[in-house]
Amino acid sequence: MPQIPTQTQILVIGGGPGGSFSAAALAREGFEVTLFEADKFPRYHIGESLLPSVRPFLQFVGAEEKVMEQGFCPKPGAAIKFNQHKREGYTDFIGRGPEFGSWNVSRSAFDHLLLQHASSCGVKVFENTKVNTIEFQKQDDPKSRPVAVNYKNSEGKEGRITFDYLVDASGRNGVMSTKYLKNRHNNETLKNIAIWGYWENCGRYKPGTNREGAIWIEALTDESGWAWFIPLEKNLVSVGVVMNHAQSIQKRNAFREESGNPNSSLHDFYLSQVKLAPGLVSDLIPNGRMVEKEGGPIVRQASDYSYSADSYAGPRYRLVGDAACFIDPFFSSGVHLAFTGGLSAAGTIATSIRGAASEEECVKWHDTKVAVSYTRFMLVVLGSYKQMRSQSENVLSDVNEDNFDRAFDLLRPIIQGTADVNKKVTEDEVHRTMDFVKNVFAPTDPELEAAVQQRVAPEFFEGGDILLPSQVEAMFDDEDVKHVLHVVNARKPVHKMFDTQKEFGSEPINGYTIKLVRGELGMVRPQSIVVA
Ligand code: FAD
Repeated sequence: MPQIPTQTQILVIGGGPGGSFSAAALAREGFEVTLFEADKFPRYHIGESLLPSVRPFLQFVGAEEKVMEQGFCPKPGAAIKFNQHKREGYTDFIGRGPEFGSWNVSRSAFDHLLLQHASSCGVKVFENTKVNTIEFQKQDDPKSRPVAVNYKNSEGKEGRITFDYLVDASGRNGVMSTKYLKNRHNNETLKNIAIWGYWENCGRYKPGTNREGAIWIEALTDESGWAWFIPLEKNLVSVGVVMNHAQSIQKRNAFREESGNPNSSLHDFYLSQVKLAPGLVSDLIPNGRMVEKEGGPIVRQASDYSYSADSYAGPRYRLVGDAACFIDPFFSSGVHLAFTGGLSAAGTIATSIRGAASEEECVKWHDTKVAVSYTRFMLVVLGSYKQMRSQSENVLSDVNEDNFDRAFDLLRPIIQGTADVNKKVTEDEVHRTMDFVKNVFAPTDPELEAAVQQRVAPEFFEGGDILLPSQVEAMFDDEDVKHVLHVVNARKPVHKMFDTQKEFGSEPINGYTIKLVRGELGMVRPQSIVVA
């Protein structure tokens, strides 16, 4: 095993998707990158359903083919039943061809593949190596530049490494944010708990059609939350329930009383909650059987995972993925956001090192990029909760059997993640989405309508002037929103992020040679692919 260096140009904390992605992107640009991962991979992780946007991201770092060869379960789309009184909506990934589809993955295998890929790109990866403390240029001033970390490996060996730039991709631990900056805020509206397990012998959504393999999301009949059904490889299915945390405690107490068993297990409670998703129970898991996965408990749980730091970057450091923020798994946005932040961190660090823009500008760019992506998802997630928590109120009032998919489709640039990777959201898409918000959510929510009228939406989508938190606060009774809606002009000199017209990778990928070309809004476009 190679020796851990005492100095590196860029240190990345965490080998999950965010850390591996930013490390690989930077190493491919010729920078010296060292990555510390506390765990030994493969390791279990939740977060199995991926958006189609992961494909251009994976192409960007040359990892798409490796993922394709792994045999993960193809994901052609997602079916979402927001309301028990209406049919589900469907967001289709593969209308333009199977190559636009995504996957549902066992994260142990997916994350391992990405970490190994980072290593193959030249990243010096050290597993079983945990960062314990960070040192700053001005002692005890975490607002100054971080300059070194102290680590300990699983054999008890301690050490110190200095660096020029730091990427904190340490997931929910969020070393910088929770230990030093102390700027993480929980999202009070989404204080939820997720309880899940793995099943065999289940059905599939619309078997024999081009929707087979799609995930199924269903609002619970008691309006406390929703359930997920995610088919994985080897006939395994991930089935989870998500509900308001406080309500879950009351429900669990009531369940103990009703069942006459004060010691009833989490497993019993989970099974009782799964039954609140009748579509799931009758069509998808009627013959299912729970199984262990990767040696863990048969029923797992996580809670209070919706939070955000109030800034995502500072002098010579960037926060990426869950270390920065996470909303809620409803639209499967976690890995997408980790990749978005990972690329933004890599791009802005590359720009800063090359002197193409000032570090201050780069910090602002990353901060904005992460905020915009996070906020896009937050809007659609909160809108969806609004409907799931008041099913008799018909929040989605204008939507009927005929226009549901079309209406739902208008949110596609956000919920498929394409708004963050492909291109600038077009004016047409802004208007269509605004119409959707206005016509669908607004009739039961005058405040939301007022906020939309006050051009919150175009500003938000276009990344224009600073949004006024007071307008947005009115939309969702949510403390956290104002922390993330500090969206400033995103039309920064993005083309400076990487060398333009630079060809990377000597081998053509999928018959194409990938060239980076000048990006527009967003970031360098991974689709900037030319036929070899
Ligand atoms: P992680 O994947 O958590 O990686 C962080 C890594 O940092 C870990 O490997 C950890 O060991 C390491 N680390 C931590 N501290 C240190 C340290 N001090 N030193 C060194 N290493 C350290 N996302 C989706 O895309 N789709 C889904 O369907 C989905 N479902 C979800 C369901 C639930 C219930 C929850 C809670 C989340 C879900 N997510 C989903 C979110 C997804 O799991 C995360 O957003 C994603 O894993 C973030 O990637 P990351 O790289 O930022 O962090």
